[in-house]
Amino acid sequence: MTALIQRSGPGRVQVDDRALVNLASCDYLGLSGDPRVLAAAHQALDRWGLGSAAGRTLSGNTTLHRELEHRLAAWVGCEDAVLHGSCWSANAAVFGTLAALDAQTGSATAVFSDRLNHASIIDAIRTQRRTLSELVLYDHDDLDGLRRSLTAAAGEHTKVIVTDGVFSMEGDQAPLADLCALAGEFGAILVVDDSHGTGVVGATGRGSGEAQGVLGRVDVLTGTLGKALGGAIGGFVAGSASFTAALRKHSRPYLFSNNPPPAMVAGALAALDVLENDAEPLAVLRARVRQLRDGVARLRLTTYEGDHPIVPIILGDEDRAAAVSTALLDEGVFTTPLRFPMVPRGTARLRLQVSAAHSATAIDQVLGALARHAQD
Ligand SMILES: *Cc1c(COP(=O)(O)O)cnc(C)c1O
Repeated sequence: MTALIQRSGPGRVQVDDRALVNLASCDYLGLSGDPRVLAAAHQALDRWGLGSAAGRTLSGNTTLHRELEHRLAAWVGCEDAVLHGSCWSANAAVFGTLAALDAQTGSATAVFSDRLNHASIIDAIRTQRRTLSELVLYDHDDLDGLRRSLTAAAGEHTKVIVTDGVFSMEGDQAPLADLCALAGEFGAILVVDDSHGTGVVGATGRGSGEAQGVLGRVDVLTGTLGKALGGAIGGFVAGSASFTAALRKHSRPYLFSNNPPPAMVAGALAALDVLENDAEPLAVLRARVRQLRDGVARLRLTTYEGDHPIVPIILGDEDRAAAVSTALLDEGVFTTPLRFPMVPRGTARLRLQVSAAHSATAIDQVLGALARHAQD
């Protein structure tokens, strides 16, 4: 079983009464403990209570929720956004809504999905499998293969290309500019789940669209509040006014499940304020990522190139990944080994996740431990 955490704060956890550097969290900007974020959450808790005990279609439709939807939409360059309880639900909602629209118009949708897409996308598609006319899994980032499949499916009414913005086990970015162009060429809808990109990549942290010069050109963007934007809970779908209106009508998680509670919504709003007004968390994050990635390269460990705070150390063998993780734990470094079915067989790895909350000294400690235990 995964270790039980006794206490935690940005960049660190306590396990078995020992303080550890935490490399197994998506709190990339350290905002889960930022005083500005916490103050906003405290205020909302006092004003609104723990929760509305109601979804958005009942009395849970607060001004705060609507404000966050407007802010998120503007931030990612879309017309509107719809909050959900999680990004898992947001992805389910997107495909549920596409299926509902198909049923209304008598159309049929063919979905083209990157093989390494997140489990929530895979399950969202599976749930709608009966109503989809076709599902094509294209090899990771294989644009030529995707083009061939799109060409072969030319007769379909609706085509949907879906990809992670940043892949969660690799830390690499999808080629969004090329995917936007392909979608345009084939009249396809491009759906991007940018959970690991939101708040992290792009000059001002607006995500993969900003990083690749296509901000606002992705048709449907999903993301989470549970990672860089405060690390709590919540997800969103951003898109055109017409698609988000359809979501509010057809998304079953939106209609039948609670939204994130007001304190979490207020925390996410404050996280957006931080991103818009304070360049330091992103700058510190990037310096720490550089430090870790340069060190990993010097140690000649196998990883994926890039600049994302997800730095996978590919070890291959499952037992070895577990053993290295245990050895790092003894050195005060908390990582989790990722094995099948989270990653393909034979590619077991440690996924190191850097945060702005890590000190340069902490990253040096990690590199020292990797030098002693992760090298062949
Ligand atoms: C983490 C993650 C999710 C799930 O987000 P939740 O808000 O925790 O449900 C969905 N998609 C991707 C790509 C993720 O990395």
